[in-house]
Amino acid sequence: MLRTNTCGELRMTHVSKTVVLSGWVQKIRDKGGMLWIDLRDRYGITQLILEEGQVDAALLTLARSLGREDVITAQGEVIERSSKNSNIPTGEIEIKVGQLHLLNKSKTPPFTIEDDTDGGDELRMKYRYLDIRRTPVRTALELRHRLSIETRKYLDGLNFLEVETPYLIKSTPEGARDFVVPSRMNPGEFYALPQSPQTFKQLLMVGGIDRYYQIVKCFRDEDLRADRQPEFTQIDCEMSFVTREDVLQTFEGLMVHLFNKVLDVQLATFPRMTYADAMTYYGCDKPDLRFDMKFVELNTVVKDKGFPVFDAAELVVGINAQGCSEYTRKQLDALTDFVKKPQLGATGLVYLKCNIDGTYKSSVDKFYSPEELQKWAEAFGAKAGDLILVLAGAPDKTRKALSELRLHLADEQGLKDPKVFKPLWVIDFPLLEWNEDEKRFFAMHHPFTSPLEDDVAYMNSDPGKVRANAYDMVINGVELGGGSVRIHNRALQKQMFSILGFTDEEAQNQFGFLMNAFEYGAPPHAGLAFGFDRMCAIFSGKDSIRDFIAFPKNNSGRDVMIDSPSVIDAKQLVELSLAVKK
Ligand code: ASP
Repeated sequence: MLRTNTCGELRMTHVSKTVVLSGWVQKIRDKGGMLWIDLRDRYGITQLILEEGQVDAALLTLARSLGREDVITAQGEVIERSSKNSNIPTGEIEIKVGQLHLLNKSKTPPFTIEDDTDGGDELRMKYRYLDIRRTPVRTALELRHRLSIETRKYLDGLNFLEVETPYLIKSTPEGARDFVVPSRMNPGEFYALPQSPQTFKQLLMVGGIDRYYQIVKCFRDEDLRADRQPEFTQIDCEMSFVTREDVLQTFEGLMVHLFNKVLDVQLATFPRMTYADAMTYYGCDKPDLRFDMKFVELNTVVKDKGFPVFDAAELVVGINAQGCSEYTRKQLDALTDFVKKPQLGATGLVYLKCNIDGTYKSSVDKFYSPEELQKWAEAFGAKAGDLILVLAGAPDKTRKALSELRLHLADEQGLKDPKVFKPLWVIDFPLLEWNEDEKRFFAMHHPFTSPLEDDVAYMNSDPGKVRANAYDMVINGVELGGGSVRIHNRALQKQMFSILGFTDEEAQNQFGFLMNAFEYGAPPHAGLAFGFDRMCAIFSGKDSIRDFIAFPKNNSGRDVMIDSPSVIDAKQLVELSLAVKK
């Protein structure tokens, strides 16, 4: 037997038992007459002890030859430790070794297998199997497992059926770029890897599977950022015979269940916010509600007092940084530099300090009297000690810059508590987005999203005004998932494609299978998908999704461990009709 117990489970109650443990050598301490080995496996660390005179000399010699990460098996008796270690659960006992076997020798690992490692990102990715031995990575994978199990339990309890959809599908032009796979049997033709199972889950609804889910890989050939991977996982869901309200309730329920079971956190009812309000009050469609700093528009308060910048601006809008009136010149300059950087492009930042002593000090004192400044403060409900920060300019750009400033201040003030969770639903997104370069509309979500019933009338006359029956779930400023009530009627779907610039022929070529299906009794349906990797990161209060993926890719989309992508054989290229035979 290679083990009777794990390295995480032995306690005082096991004292005097003979056990066999197996694992990796974490550390060896050799004090001459005594030698200790910290033995590690997935479950924890247990200390082994070998005492000169008490064990075979050959065993001691073997123990002394061991190095970090060697794989060993030890048999021995559980004894009480004389000096206990309260930092680890097995810290009250140790194993008095009777037998010891080396199962496999390890080279010295390129970085230390400890919670805080000396390995950089690339090195850890190259030796990912060693990185996975580290507790932070392992616990990330354990959390992922728990979340998937609890998701399945919850959805299964509501009659959802997990159905697998194909990975080799047809390229669709909407959305991100596709990864494609050449077909050997159909020379010159390609499959595409799914960006999501969207059309298949809708076809499952037509097929009468009225509650579907799948924890599924999706593929998007996009430029990568810290929270993006070319292949990622969704919890993908769809339901028939439901309204938006049913979907929101069902998946708010999923989130409440997951937070409760996995983190023991009880979430309150999720507030709902329209896209329009999110943009007006937070300048973005995924507001972080862990802190306040709601936007206040000042046009009526500040204009026509002789300050040319405000007078010329279409929008004057600000936030109240509570308790920040003591910000120094240097701090304020840094904030000004922040909003002026090219990505944000603000021309300047106006501040108003509501001093502790009740006086006001602003960067535009020349133009505004103390009484007028007091009106600003009132508009924000600001108190003595607060700092008001104001931007002015074109509405979209100004809101975006103020939104970034709001998040920046929250960082500075330590208001982004990773242990606090503030979910909400953002609803009523615009259906379409105008693309100035291509001079045409794009679907903001995807082309299968239904317009809000009240807005269908504008579909032809004013498409830009139409709101979608779409929703996003946002937690702590991160979009965790999104979906919509779908179009289930051929004529409306056809109209949608035509607004998106498809000719009838193109629409029929690319999406005929779906529109045809809509002619055979398609039920009304709606659904959504969650980004599962991101969900894991949120549950752990982390920004990057990388550690929640066992084998992630780097920022260039490479797997540096297996060295992929890579060139393929000339013979393979010919077989795939990607090259001609020489
Ligand atoms: N398929 C959509 C996506 O990947 C989600 C949905 O609408 O259900 O974003």
